[in-house]
Amino acid sequence: MERLSDVLFSGSQTEFLLEIFIRTFIMFLLVLLVLRLLGRRGVRQLTLFEMAMIISLGSAAGDPMFQDDLPISYAVIVFMTVVLLYKGITWIVMKYRPMEKMLEGAALTVVQDGMFALEEDRDLTFSKMEFFSELRNLSVEHLGQVREGVLEVDGTLSVLFYEPSQVRFGLALFPSRYREISGYHGPGPFACMFCGKVIKEIPVGKECPRCSRNRWALAMNTQRV
Ligand SMILES: [Zn+2]
Repeated sequence: MERLSDVLFSGSQTEFLLEIFIRTFIMFLLVLLVLRLLGRRGVRQLTLFEMAMIISLGSAAGDPMFQDDLPISYAVIVFMTVVLLYKGITWIVMKYRPMEKMLEGAALTVVQDGMFALEEDRDLTFSKMEFFSELRNLSVEHLGQVREGVLEVDGTLSVLFYEPSQVRFGLALFPSRYREISGYHGPGPFACMFCGKVIKEIPVGKECPRCSRNRWALAMNTQRV
């Protein structure tokens, strides 16, 4: 049976306590940076800041549990540093609002006026198919039904719909209609499979006037039921 003081402080060195403070500081910022770089997909319901905190606390809580050469006092310092950082950063964000954007990102407009918003192109490409799936989950059959779609900081999608009378032609989102036209010479309109731009004339071999890509599907204009 070990003495309580051994469990808490076994072999700890004062200078190492300071090192843990610095390590935690660096690790927390690194975790936050990595999550920020990864983007917010897959971090549903949690903001990046909260996620960084949970990961930091999680790993600090885990290690001393099964490593007997790791005194618990180290983990306590990790917790204190994380809480200090959390309080400090929350305070800074309250005082300087622009910091919030840097830290957690801003809400992104992903659909505007029945088309994908091109300014967000860079962010959209990696998970375009996920947006299709999110929109389908909201029973959106095609982009022509959507006036505006916003990707929130917590990873959820908020959608505003057109009035039934204002539904326009748009890019189909369900696989049965999201198909590249080939050898088709019937009536249009047609929708760019990348950005959702709709044109009337047969676009075979033509570039999209909006995004310069060259894949077209038949557009549809069914109303929401
Ligand atoms: Zn296009």
